[in-house]
Formats: sequence, C-alpha cells, structure tokens
Amino acid sequence: MENSPASGTLNGHRGDPTTLPGLFRLIFFTLLAWIASRFLLKAFRTAAPRSQGPPPVPPQESPREISERLVRDPVCGLALPESRALQHGDAFFCSAECRDRFLAGGQG
Ligand SMILES: [Zn+2]
Repeated sequence: MENSPASGTLNGHRGDPTTLPGLFRLIFFTLLAWIASRFLLKAFRTAAPRSQGPPPVPPQESPREISERLVRDPVCGLALPESRALQHGDAFFCSAECRDRFLAGGQG
C-alpha cells in the first residue's frame, strides 16, 4: 500500500528564505524609483514654471438659471427650477397635468 502524497510534504517547499530578500529588494527599488520620480517632477516644476500662455479667463456669462433652486416633480420625477414649477402646498409640479394627476391619485 502506498500513501498518496496529497497532504503534507510534497517537495519540501516551505517559505524559501532566498526569495524573501529578492522581494524586499524589488520593493526597495520600486520605492526608490517612485521617490526619485516624485523628486524629479517637483524639481522640474519649480525649475520651469509655466509663464507662457494666456491667463485663464473666467466665463463672463450671466448666471441666469444656475443659482435657482431645483425642485422635483413627485409625479413624473422631473427636476426643474422653482420659478418654472407649479406649486401646490409643499409639492412642485412640471405642469398642470402632473398636478392634477397628483391631486386625483393622492399618494397612492
Ligand atoms: Zn411632471
């Protein structure tokens, strides 16, 4: 009778001590490369500031419907500015149809 080598020692591979320093070396060099690249990037940015090119011009458009509060129609789920919505109590609707449907159907 032969014991199948399914459990236990197959080849004696248990945490090779020779691969651990190699891994650490890899991590070390990766870290070193990362630090070096960051340092070079920082030095490059401070050495060559972007003085050319036009300055960023802010958009001079009049904010018409941007600062408006948006309300949501509970019937169709449409979001629209408060000034354009039909108000009924605490609810806002996009149209009279939605308002009527809301009033007719209630909350159900
Ligand atoms: Zn609606």
